[in-house]
Amino acid sequence: MTIEIQKIREDFPILDQKIYKRQLVYFDNAATTQRPQQVIDALNQTYTEYYGNIHRGAHFMADKATAAYEETREKVKNLINAESREQIIFTKGTTESINLAAFSFGEAFVREGDEIIVSEMEHHSNIVPWQLMAGRKGAKIVMLPIDDDGRLQIEKLDQLITPKTKLIAVAHVSNVLGTINPVATIARIAHTKDIRIFVDGAQAAPHRQIDVQDLDVDFYAFSAHKMYGPNGVGVLYGKKELLEQMPPYQGGGEMISEVKFSGTTYNELPYKFEAGTPNISDVIAFGAAIDYLLSIGLENLASWEHELLEYATSKLIVIPGLRIYGIQALKSGVISFNVEGIHFFDLGTMLDKFGIAVRTGHHCADPLMDHFDIQGTVRASFAVYNTKEEIDVFVEALKKVIAMF
Ligand code: PLP
Repeated sequence: MTIEIQKIREDFPILDQKIYKRQLVYFDNAATTQRPQQVIDALNQTYTEYYGNIHRGAHFMADKATAAYEETREKVKNLINAESREQIIFTKGTTESINLAAFSFGEAFVREGDEIIVSEMEHHSNIVPWQLMAGRKGAKIVMLPIDDDGRLQIEKLDQLITPKTKLIAVAHVSNVLGTINPVATIARIAHTKDIRIFVDGAQAAPHRQIDVQDLDVDFYAFSAHKMYGPNGVGVLYGKKELLEQMPPYQGGGEMISEVKFSGTTYNELPYKFEAGTPNISDVIAFGAAIDYLLSIGLENLASWEHELLEYATSKLIVIPGLRIYGIQALKSGVISFNVEGIHFFDLGTMLDKFGIAVRTGHHCADPLMDHFDIQGTVRASFAVYNTKEEIDVFVEALKKVIAMF
């Protein structure tokens, strides 16, 4: 273990506080992480030192803000090893990235009767935009099922793919089960049949090194707020030849080349997809979050989170009546569970009284809940600043809560 956990924790002022007179234990990181002081400072700095609207200013602050905004684009490009900066589109989050891709890909490439394969374990964000597009285009959504261990049944792809299949939409990592999906394999299968693959990386990008060229995916999306960055910033990566053929998602300033009543021409990539004033300060601060991630090292972070996952799993699995959903191997730091006879909401509410923040409910994954025939789970999800001592506190509190019922 090469990370200094206490030093990392000191970077996150919000962690050092008491909730109901107990030390806060924050295990809701899959929903959103907390931010280090470095990111808060970067955000503060833009508003106090050099805020201006970007790309069109003729003054010092606008130029400086533009440079800082574009520097983050370069950092994102390097972070995921994209071929070029033109392929990095800033959005307000994974959800908007998927809506953009579904709309524009649909307009460019999907015709009546075409099919889109979507996995059963998807977050609603990676289902509904495809359904909306399919509704508009007269296309069909086909479900790629999971097995009872929460693994994608990719062997079924052969049967599901038809000459009408245009795209496969799949999460890199499940937000409920933590399952790491074999997206490179799916991309290979898809590409042999001239099918595109869209990967929802919301739960992967914060926890591991992503190389979009190595994975050979056509689209990849993620959110800054789940990776120690600010709210309101997302990324859509896309293959250049696809993005070039796709029409704009929204119209407005910045996305145009020339506007005439006789016809408008559009800006080049990535600006064609960034209409209006973007989220300037938050994008700049996202750059600080990327620097922060890199200063820890994604491999160090992944191995620490894996250690936390194994430690927590070993402590939870022995609790009578507790069921963890999904396979225990090949997964990210997410544990979803239920305890026999106790409603997940009651467990979450009682844990909160011990200062422990977990998520309860369907986690925006109704089809996955239906698969397991449940209404919801308790979900504990880890980030780099979590510790084994916090897991001990959580497990002891959970045992006390169970004993109360
Ligand atoms: N996809 C997955 C797998 C997620 O976990 C989430 C958020 O929890 C999203 C998409 C949506 O992300 P956002 O709300 O940042 O747009």
